[in-house]
Amino acid sequence: MPELPEVETIARGLASRVAGDVIDSVWLGAKPEPFKSAAAEIMATLQSRRIAHVRRVGKHLVFDLETLRPTPLPARSGSARGMRTSAARSGAAQWIVHLGMTGRMLVCQADEPVAKHTHAIAHLASGRELRFVDPRRFGRLSVARGFRAPGSEPLEVERECFVKLFGGRKTPIKSALLNQKLLSGVGNIYADESLFRAALRPRRRAASLSREELRRLYRAVREVLQEAIALGGSSVSDYVDADGEEGWFQLQHRVYGRAGEPCLVCQTPIERRVIAGRSSHYCPRCQH
Ligand SMILES: [Zn+2]
Repeated sequence: MPELPEVETIARGLASRVAGDVIDSVWLGAKPEPFKSAAAEIMATLQSRRIAHVRRVGKHLVFDLETLRPTPLPARSGSARGMRTSAARSGAAQWIVHLGMTGRMLVCQADEPVAKHTHAIAHLASGRELRFVDPRRFGRLSVARGFRAPGSEPLEVERECFVKLFGGRKTPIKSALLNQKLLSGVGNIYADESLFRAALRPRRRAASLSREELRRLYRAVREVLQEAIALGGSSVSDYVDADGEEGWFQLQHRVYGRAGEPCLVCQTPIERRVIAGRSSHYCPRCQH
């Protein structure tokens, strides 16, 4: 499942490819699950809009859309065309895509064969197509205005706000990190990696962490996410091209998925515990 760094990478890749292009028309598949907004609403919102920008909000891809509005030419121009189109922001409609487990957003040439499990196609004025492909159908497409993720943005939240988010919570710090209402976009892998870097055990109650420990965690979360984004930047094409079948780029995981393997710092075998239904990996010696 793509986490924040992957979604950031995908958003940047999409922005560099399709920002400025215009959605001429939209095709939506018959399977209802991928559509969180009504199909008619999605069509009406997307068609004849220019993609102003693509960015990440939490774990969502947000396409900021601009209206193409016919504008009368000044009478003195004497032009026979009479009308021209110009982009005008009107209420900033947005196309929101959550990739779920297996969703992908592909930029394809129109003549490329349409992959199985394609649920939506936006035909672009450039002749290309944006295709949403999702075999397991946990991904979601919707339209919105002024979309906001429910939690704080981990790369933007101020340190003391971060400390306040977690201070006093009775849940394990691991569960708190995964709580999307607190922080938006941190998933299982980066939660485990951040806790390792901060030398904190995943099962510690958030309330038991000192201010200094929370500050350490704040730094660790940012470092882990930024490193992963930096790694992803060079391999953007793997995620958005039609033939991008490759898996996610991987930060060298220090604990995640390494149960039983020696800690890279102290050689103690990494342990795995289930916390709030999610497996957590940690070094029993380095993390306290
Ligand atoms: Zn260790």
